[in-house]
Amino acid sequence: MRTCDFCGRTEEDDAATLAWSTSVERGRRQTYCDTCSRENLRSMEGKLDSDFW
Ligand SMILES: [Zn+2]
Repeated sequence: MRTCDFCGRTEEDDAATLAWSTSVERGRRQTYCDTCSRENLRSMEGKLDSDFW
């Protein structure tokens, strides 16, 4: 079972999580469901600048 680190949604079916994405931020692995992955693409790009500094 995987849990979305953004909205807390859980999915027990591994096949359903194929569309989920993972990213490593500061050594911690973040998992995003398909919905959050799409929405995060924009915010993650904008967040890079503030996190970088
Ligand atoms: Zn989510």
